[in-house]
Amino acid sequence: MSRVRLLSDTLASQVAAGEVIERPASVVKELVENSIDAGARSIEVLIRRGGISFIRVTDDGIGMDRDDALLCLERHATSKIRTAADLATVGTLGFRGEALPSIASVSRFRLTTREKESIAGTEILVAGGKLETVRDGGEAPGTQVEVRSLFYNLPARRKFLRSENTETRQIEHQLNLQAIGHPEIAFSFLRDERLVFQLPATKSLRDRIRDLAGSELLARLLEVEPAARGRVRVNGFIGQAGVSRASRAQQYVFVNGRAIESPVLGAALKEGYHTALMKGQFPVTFLSIELDPTEVDVNVHPAKREVRFRDPNGVRESVVTAVRHSLESDRATWQEQFRGPPPVDPPFIRPGEPPAFASQPAFAIEPGGPARRASHIEPNDHRSDEPSPNDRRLPVPAHRFQILGVLNKLYVLMENAEGLVLVDQHAAHERILFEELRRRMEEQGVPSQRLLLPQVVSLAPRDAEWIERNLATLQKMGLGVEEFGRHTFKLESLPPFLSGSDPARLLQDVIDSLKSASQSSSPLRLGEDMIAKTVCRHAVKANDFLRHAEVEKLIHDLLDCELPYCCPHGRPTMIQISLGELEKKFGRKV
Ligand code: ADP
Ligand code: MG
Repeated sequence: MSRVRLLSDTLASQVAAGEVIERPASVVKELVENSIDAGARSIEVLIRRGGISFIRVTDDGIGMDRDDALLCLERHATSKIRTAADLATVGTLGFRGEALPSIASVSRFRLTTREKESIAGTEILVAGGKLETVRDGGEAPGTQVEVRSLFYNLPARRKFLRSENTETRQIEHQLNLQAIGHPEIAFSFLRDERLVFQLPATKSLRDRIRDLAGSELLARLLEVEPAARGRVRVNGFIGQAGVSRASRAQQYVFVNGRAIESPVLGAALKEGYHTALMKGQFPVTFLSIELDPTEVDVNVHPAKREVRFRDPNGVRESVVTAVRHSLESDRATWQEQFRGPPPVDPPFIRPGEPPAFASQPAFAIEPGGPARRASHIEPNDHRSDEPSPNDRRLPVPAHRFQILGVLNKLYVLMENAEGLVLVDQHAAHERILFEELRRRMEEQGVPSQRLLLPQVVSLAPRDAEWIERNLATLQKMGLGVEEFGRHTFKLESLPPFLSGSDPARLLQDVIDSLKSASQSSSPLRLGEDMIAKTVCRHAVKANDFLRHAEVEKLIHDLLDCELPYCCPHGRPTMIQISLGELEKKFGRKV
């Protein structure tokens, strides 16, 4: 007896809906995408109770005639593609003809639509996939879809919905995505009859970001220079170094106008930021990536949330470069703030009198103490407390600032053209050491110092393998390691900046901290990670007293760095408080 049967259309739709429509936010996504594809200039979204009881999307797009309005509720009915070849070059957000029948099969559904030229529109009511009413209706040209009691006929699905607040947040996130992706469309969003946002249509992404996310965030974004990078165009805005979030919630990435989630792009952003991003944090981006439609397959995910690139490495490279260039070009802006007219005479400090912070007893620091470490690490740096001719040449007059003092033995206070600057002396020194060591490593490898007694270190088999694979890199980093029997290594030399450490522990540290990164990182990256870790221990600390000349050198060196405004762990090194901000705080300016 044959047992195979065709499912009824309604049931088939409900099964299909399981993939496309996970929650109210999926409904909003699909409906808004349809409105965008229909050429809407204005889209209004209204929800009640997290979209579970009611969703309404209204647009002023091209609308549909009666036949199309009926047909669009059939599965696989679409106006957007006709042939397989169209699929390869799809330029619309939708293309499967699945969303409307899916939504209509799991809700009480109402569609009203009217084309501009026609006198009457069409109204269609469907419940749980069953067509109930077709009649004249539809007032303004465009389309309105109402979705009530989502999943009312699929109790199992309904149970999986989260709280109304959570579902609302998801919907709002969806709308944010669509609004960022389409600044040229006006959006309004109402929740339980209250207006959440109303965004006017605009030509510029900048305006849209301001309207949606506020001017404070906008001020901390960098515009990606629209350079042609191979066949991939990257543009939009990314957060300055130090601007990050604990989740991907503000990591907006669009590929050919489609908001997507992409591990490839996520990794590329992280790599682009590299030391400008704190561990465990995610960058803030409003990034649009455009490439030939044939270079990207959009038909890989039920909710069209992911795409597949034909050349993922090319895309990755373009994004990494775009991010890196933007962060580096920001340096010029920072430096401008130190190039303006020099601040007047230092306040509170009379000529001939040493600056207050330098006259503390701890000012007398023996050579080799923390004060000495404030300068670049130089193997032959025999600076004493007497100013050497070398010292007298400092400061180089390229940057203009006035040091006011050091707060809490940690924050350097200074004045520049813009106003007040606070510098974290530890973070600043980390950045300087990091770039210095990286430069050396790139140029010549790191010089290494022989240990008085070579150390023999035994390792676990997996660690031993890791060392074997990375011997060349370790050598380049000044770690003289040699194989010395099975799973055993002889450590003969170390880079000078590590000479104080316990070699065996150091080797284990290097392995532990870099093992996970090593598969994806280039050999130099490996070195960078290690340097970033080590400089932390060797940089001047909070509580280390610095002499005036040392503070000055520290600031000069910092301003000469490639990424002066954050330490190698992505924390800020400097905070600028402008005179304008101070005036506001003191109520001198509104
Ligand atoms: P797809 O978007 O993949 O084509 P849908 O089921 O979402 O599939 O929509 C089916 C068809 O209905 C669309 O191809 C389009 O022609 C029409 N349609 C849907 N929504 C609208 C709308 N808001 N305005 C005009 N036409 C629409
Ligand atoms: Mg669609």
